[in-house]
Amino acid sequence: MKNPYTIATLGSHSALQILKGAKDEGFQTLVITTDRMLPFYKTMPFIDSYVRVDSYADFPTVEKELLKKNVIVIPHGTFVASLGIEGNKKMQLPYYGNKKVLDWEADRNMQRKWLEAANLTLPGQFKTIERATFPVIVKHHGAAGGKGYFYAKNKKDFQKKIKTFGKSPYTIQEYVIGVPFYIHYFYSPLTKKLEIMSMDRRYETNVDGLGRIPSAEQKGIEISPSYVVVGNSELVLRESMLSDAYAMGNRIIDASKKLIDKKGLYGPFCLETVITPDQKFYAFEISCRIVAGTNIFVHGSAYSWLYYNEPMSTGRRIAREIKNAIKEKRLKEILY
Ligand code: ADP
Repeated sequence: MKNPYTIATLGSHSALQILKGAKDEGFQTLVITTDRMLPFYKTMPFIDSYVRVDSYADFPTVEKELLKKNVIVIPHGTFVASLGIEGNKKMQLPYYGNKKVLDWEADRNMQRKWLEAANLTLPGQFKTIERATFPVIVKHHGAAGGKGYFYAKNKKDFQKKIKTFGKSPYTIQEYVIGVPFYIHYFYSPLTKKLEIMSMDRRYETNVDGLGRIPSAEQKGIEISPSYVVVGNSELVLRESMLSDAYAMGNRIIDASKKLIDKKGLYGPFCLETVITPDQKFYAFEISCRIVAGTNIFVHGSAYSWLYYNEPMSTGRRIAREIKNAIKEKRLKEILY
């Protein structure tokens, strides 16, 4: 039987991976895209149709047209960035994921409560700079893609940098010295099983470039670390630490079912951690959807290969989940 659904997403972030995965699982595919991106997407053989918008924030103007096309929308980072939480909530189209999670993710205090309830180790957080232990990283509440952050080595440094930081609310967090490690998970409410899909590290400018200049050469020039993500690279975790990474993911899911609602968090999510020399994970953020770091693994990862024995990206895993839900007549359980 021909699959009656079309998988649709906005043309950016991880759209290629999502739509390739959807095609591999037998769905029709559609991209909502701007004129700038259209010629590029047209070169991709797995995208069946295109709906154009002037900007991604105009998504609501094409909703009616999409309703007729029997689409299932797969959200990614651009959905929140361009439409805001309210825009996501208002969307009438069948949407993969639990929208109730959005508020818990967006508010740094609620997110912290959730991660604490999951018994994760978190970087210290300080109400005022007087109480801080240094170094610290200062984050705007809406910071994204590493923009809206600064590093401060002491109080004087903080006071200097805060002057040009703008007025919106910020958080002062302990800067954990270790290696950044992003773990990509997928939780299926159909099987009640958590999978580790892949892992990445971000390539951030200029913090990843500073190490190329010896500290003696840095002295006297004004450079502060900044954290703008420009790429991602693949990682595998020391095998003896995998069970801890897995257990953290499970505790996140359990806590979400208690704090958010019965369904809690499901589908893809990512824990952003720093690992210290004592092999401890400090979780500093959770992303509750597919993350761009999974784009490395269009052909699957060292972990997804173990579960599936076939190329299984996170994008394809989402489509597989939707396909399984259709087969089991449980689609409603995973759509919002
Ligand atoms: P975004 O909100 O864009 O996802 P992140 O929260 O991932 O940004 O932070 C951007 C970068 O800042 C991280 O990749 C990491 O390098 C660094 N970072 C964030 N929090 C900490 C922390 N508490 N200790 C050390 N580094 C951190």
